[in-house]
Amino acid sequence: MPDITLNCENCGNEFVFSEGERAFYASKGLSIPKCCPICRSIKAQEKRIPPKPTSPTGTTPSSGPAVPPEFPKKA
Ligand SMILES: [Zn+2]
Repeated sequence: MPDITLNCENCGNEFVFSEGERAFYASKGLSIPKCCPICRSIKAQEKRIPPKPTSPTGTTPSSGPAVPPEFPKKA
């Protein structure tokens, strides 16, 4: 089975879907990927990133400038 070249549905780049990859996908019961490996890895990373946590304190302190850290500063 020769390698086949596919067009990424996401970025439009051509990518090679090799015989080995096809065998891997077939063994997993997956169909031919629509996106190139780059886009797929990006999507996989996006899935791993948890949603941005919302700030616990929505309000800014009203006591003027920010409080400096409590360790001494020596020049
Ligand atoms: Zn792509």
